[in-house]
Amino acid sequence: MVFSYYKKLSAAQKRIYEQSDAIITVPLPDAGELQLLIPLLSSALTREDREQVEAVCRKLTLGMADRLAVPPLRVKVLAVRPSASWGELHGLYEPAEGRASAVISLWMRTAKHRRVVAFKSFLRTLLHELCHHLDYELYKLPDSFHTEGFYKRESSLFHRLVEEQPPANFE
Ligand SMILES: [Zn+2]
Repeated sequence: MVFSYYKKLSAAQKRIYEQSDAIITVPLPDAGELQLLIPLLSSALTREDREQVEAVCRKLTLGMADRLAVPPLRVKVLAVRPSASWGELHGLYEPAEGRASAVISLWMRTAKHRRVVAFKSFLRTLLHELCHHLDYELYKLPDSFHTEGFYKRESSLFHRLVEEQPPANFE
């Protein structure tokens, strides 16, 4: 399956798209220590503790970058974005370009009655933005497209971090 915008891409972009679409997992080695951060992230979000959320996201992101041998990147967790409707947990990836490192910005948003869902969406947003970094730095793609392969890579990281760990104290 290709997304509809594929048709509008140039021939060079289509080649990048196809390369991106063909990679469906991110083999993250040695994830045990990173899995231990997941309950910390979940509880920091539940407490709406922005500084702790940011600290855990940084550890998690640097840990993944290190294991995947890509340049480290910064993570900023910003306050609630008032205009976002529930379910839209926005993130932003900015490549290093002139800066010392690439930056991921995440907007913390809590939905008081659906905290676990919020946590999963938040983590997925972080992983989504990290996948843009991997497109450039690990796969050396000149552009980073949202392909089916891209979303599968995002999911593969999510499952590696979340669902392979024992379900204890996670909800
Ligand atoms: Zn994206």
